[in-house]
Amino acid sequence: MTSEAMPGGPALTPSRRGLLRAAAAGAVAIAAPTVAARAQSTGGKKVLILGAGMAGLASGLALLRRGHDVTILEYQDRIGGRLLSVPLGDGMFTEAGGGHFRSNMPYVLAYVRRFNLPLLSLNDGLPRYMIDGKVGEGANLATWPWPLSAEERQVTVSSMLNQYLYRAGLDSDTVLDARWPDDEGLDRLGNVTVGDLIRGVGASEAFCKVLDAHGGTFTSSSQALGAIPDLAYHFGDQNLFRIQGGNSRLPLALAAAIGRDRFVLGSPVAKIDQSGQSGPHVRVATRDGREFTGDAVISTIPFSVMGEVEVLPQWSARKARMFAEMEWDRTVKVIVKTRSPSWLSRNVHGWPMAGGDRPWERVIDITGNEPGGFGSTFFYLNGTNADAVLKLPRAERAAVVVDQFRRDMPDLFDEVVSMDSFAWSEQPWIRGSFGGPPIGGGWMVKEWSVPEGRIHFAGDFTTLKTGWVEGAIESGLRAARQIDPEARPEGNPRIRQEL
Ligand SMILES: Cc1cc2nc3c(=O)[nH]c(=O)nc-3n(C[C@H](O)[C@H](O)[C@H](O)COP(=O)(O)OP(=O)(O)OC[C@H]3O[C@@H](n4cnc5c(N)ncnc54)[C@H](O)[C@@H]3O)c2cc1C
Repeated sequence: MTSEAMPGGPALTPSRRGLLRAAAAGAVAIAAPTVAARAQSTGGKKVLILGAGMAGLASGLALLRRGHDVTILEYQDRIGGRLLSVPLGDGMFTEAGGGHFRSNMPYVLAYVRRFNLPLLSLNDGLPRYMIDGKVGEGANLATWPWPLSAEERQVTVSSMLNQYLYRAGLDSDTVLDARWPDDEGLDRLGNVTVGDLIRGVGASEAFCKVLDAHGGTFTSSSQALGAIPDLAYHFGDQNLFRIQGGNSRLPLALAAAIGRDRFVLGSPVAKIDQSGQSGPHVRVATRDGREFTGDAVISTIPFSVMGEVEVLPQWSARKARMFAEMEWDRTVKVIVKTRSPSWLSRNVHGWPMAGGDRPWERVIDITGNEPGGFGSTFFYLNGTNADAVLKLPRAERAAVVVDQFRRDMPDLFDEVVSMDSFAWSEQPWIRGSFGGPPIGGGWMVKEWSVPEGRIHFAGDFTTLKTGWVEGAIESGLRAARQIDPEARPEGNPRIRQEL
């Protein structure tokens, strides 16, 4: 077994080294328009949308189809925000941001169908866990070495978690409804962690640790309100997919439908002024001194960087508090292409392929049925694991993580063909990866959907589906509906026609 990443030689293939940087710097351009956006009514409003991620694009297309005049101002010189596909060579793509979708995401599926995007299927996780120095195989429950309860021993993590959610009065369908939770649910769940909730209905400490190893970003110590929809996505549906040629094709398809002349790229918004007594309702200035005017604004600017935007009049106290108190993860992704999906022969694969309390945290196999014979994985590092890696020079990060993983699980990777890393906290347009309310932050769930004058808020972090494209779309459509109540796809059968 050979590797370019063995100790002492963190060699990145030169032609690969710059891939993430190139992708981040805007190698992903707007595709030529292929789908005409048809205005369905006249007499529309002039709407400025801040940010060309999935939330901004979904709102823009919905409003355009209703006859409104839409302009999208985007910080970066590329479309897609946190959907950022990276070529791996040999026709393969991996993902620095949003990596996969599931069948319980009706909005995502509706756009995928509408734009006729080809899909790759992925495996759901049949992982190997490494916890407290002991190793257990997801495929072999009988030999699990941790002190699980008798019932936890007999079923998978997924089955047991769904059982615990049920006992706690929840289920993986209801919690994905845009109207969930009601006021009582907000009160009940806003101040507890996932661990509090499932321990209360029988979960053992050992089960919480296995859940932590499996879950990654959301652990048993996460705030329940924000984590439960995440658990419902991960454990409520086993049909996983990504888009052949890169998930960035999804935002690019929406952008093409909107029309490239409606985008102003490479133009960070610096100021939003709605204090004028006469003339245009809202004036938005970009850092390069240009000014745009409109009747309404939909801002998808991540709250993590909202402080960099001057606003007149000042934000209300509740909005300022929300921007300041929302918590942001700082995920580092390490991306690896291997000579083959060698782990399959060990019956270990999928989302995740391995998870543990080790510094590599969680390894995801996204190869699925991608042709070519190579293996495609990435590591998600969060919290203290991300912090440890961020202290290293960028060029060393991927190799350090991969080396540790290969020492812990030497039989899973064969030759490493290329590797790289992407640190979300180092992206100036977001400085984080996933935003959500802290413990006791249930009040934010109402606050983020209240407009501030003519400024409406969207972005996945303004839903409980934070960290998911489905949430981003849902938020964009909600904001569009606040401006035009008819811009509202709701209910599965109608979604496809109305997006
Ligand atoms: C590591 C990682 C893994 C993920 N995995 C998954 C997954 O497996 N499945 C899934 O469904 N989702 C996943 N997601 C989440 C998914 O990527 C997001 O939900 C979605 O892309 C967010 O879209 P958005 O429009 O809400 O925000 P963003 O995509 O962040 O868009 C915000 C936009 O605002 C722009 N902006 C910022 N500041 C300004 C300014 N001042 N002026 C103008 N524009 C500005 C930004 O440049 C950006 O384009 C993942 C995300 C990350 C980071």
